[in-house]
Amino acid sequence: MSPQTAALLKVHPSNFRVSGFTSDVPLRELRALADEHGLPLIMDVGSGLLTPDPILPDEPSLSEALEAGADVVIASGDKLLGGTQAGLLLGRAETIQKLAKHPLARAVRADKLTLAALEATLVSGNTPVQQALHADPERLRVRAERLGDDLGMPVVPHDGRVGGGGAPGVPLPGWAVRLPERAASALRLGEPAVLPRVHDGACLIDLRCIPEDDDARVTAAARAALGALD
Ligand SMILES: *Cc1c(COP(=O)(O)O)cnc(C)c1O
Repeated sequence: MSPQTAALLKVHPSNFRVSGFTSDVPLRELRALADEHGLPLIMDVGSGLLTPDPILPDEPSLSEALEAGADVVIASGDKLLGGTQAGLLLGRAETIQKLAKHPLARAVRADKLTLAALEATLVSGNTPVQQALHADPERLRVRAERLGDDLGMPVVPHDGRVGGGGAPGVPLPGWAVRLPERAASALRLGEPAVLPRVHDGACLIDLRCIPEDDDARVTAAARAALGALD
């Protein structure tokens, strides 16, 4: 820090992971340091998790970052928030007002459609992202077995991933129907297109991100894909 320092910024590694002998400085300690030097403290949490979620233990939330004393917390409106592509700034009213008056704010402001979609996301809370994250593993198993039985294919344990720049490396335990690897391209090219995971010499269909109402369509698509192999 020098007389040139305008702020302290902490950025969460939201879409990558550093492992080994690494550590980071808790926000509360940075708050104390910022106060000592009269600097504002900015925290970029990246993925837009509103409140702590036990499924994602290492993912910082907006509420925790505000409670820990950040003047401004930055996050994506997409990713774990599950809304529109947007950049969010949360913080003390006077700080946000100051930022809103900056000439750059006009250049990056969101339009009304983005704001309307963001409001709908925040009011509903139950976004497709939340539904997929919190899908009941037992229900996923029942659905996978139904699909497996219909196709005559085995069901195997399968860890899902959050993806899309949130909670890197965190497994989401679930199930998948295991098809021959060759079925993958037929599934992708089918109507409707189904995007399976190709892994370990197999084509894996994990239903986590498929609404249950669409299971019959997935079954029909998989049957067609398997039929095209013969
Ligand atoms: C993803 C991410 C951003 C940018 O978010 P957008 O979704 O592109 O608005 C900024 N900071 C961090 C730490 C991120 O992970």
